[in-house]
Amino acid sequence: MRVTVLGCGGSAGVPHIGGADGAGDWGACDAKEPRNGRSRSSIVLEWDGFRLLIDTSPDMRSQFLANRIGRIDAVLYTHTHADHIAGVDDVRLLNRLLNAPLPTYVTEPTLDYLRQHYEYVFRPYNGGFFVRPVLAPRIIAPGQTIVIGGREFQIFEQDHHFTKSIGFRCGSFAYSTDVVRLEDGVFDLLSGVDTWLLAAFQRPPHPTHLNVEGAVAWSRRVGARRTVLTHMGNDLDWAWLQKRLPEGVEPAHDGMVIECR
Ligand SMILES: [Zn+2]
Ligand SMILES: [Zn+2]
Repeated sequence: MRVTVLGCGGSAGVPHIGGADGAGDWGACDAKEPRNGRSRSSIVLEWDGFRLLIDTSPDMRSQFLANRIGRIDAVLYTHTHADHIAGVDDVRLLNRLLNAPLPTYVTEPTLDYLRQHYEYVFRPYNGGFFVRPVLAPRIIAPGQTIVIGGREFQIFEQDHHFTKSIGFRCGSFAYSTDVVRLEDGVFDLLSGVDTWLLAAFQRPPHPTHLNVEGAVAWSRRVGARRTVLTHMGNDLDWAWLQKRLPEGVEPAHDGMVIECR
């Protein structure tokens, strides 16, 4: 299975809008290091010609073009925050390429939110040209093992303080974005995972996101061979992380490709 990191930035991306002359607020990040430019967090998993998109970020269009991603077979949503859903209008292009409504793996609360805020993507589709996005929901719940494209996904709940998000394990790979706390049972489920793409937002502790120190501790706890940090804010410079992170932990960058079993 191939995992492509479409975006590994926090909700504002890196740089933030602002900075001197509007050129961007890079915070502690070196503006000259291309791996510090981070779009909003999203990934694509690909195996046997099947592509699963995780979240539809507001940067989805440029992410697809930059990574030469055309057709997508399904999408899975982690939670309702705007940095993970706001690109949903561009799904109409994916509908056109697939020539069908897009199978959408989503929890009941996330679906309720999407129905309230993007009602038009759930109206019945009666065939013809996709002038709007059409999602075909398939309800999932934490604790379930579901099969997508012939592969098993173990879905688990993550505490994101103000809300819940979901993470998943698929064979030797796991993805956890937007999380600050996990139940003991989830650590057990993740035990021995080979590669964990794990969100770490900043250096100091944060009420809704894990920080770098926490991510390193979690990585050790599950015994991951390789932990790749994502959803990073502008106080996490790529070279700074690369130099200080312990063996087996590294920062992601937009466009990074991870090969897993
Ligand atoms: Zn987020
Ligand atoms: Zn979030």
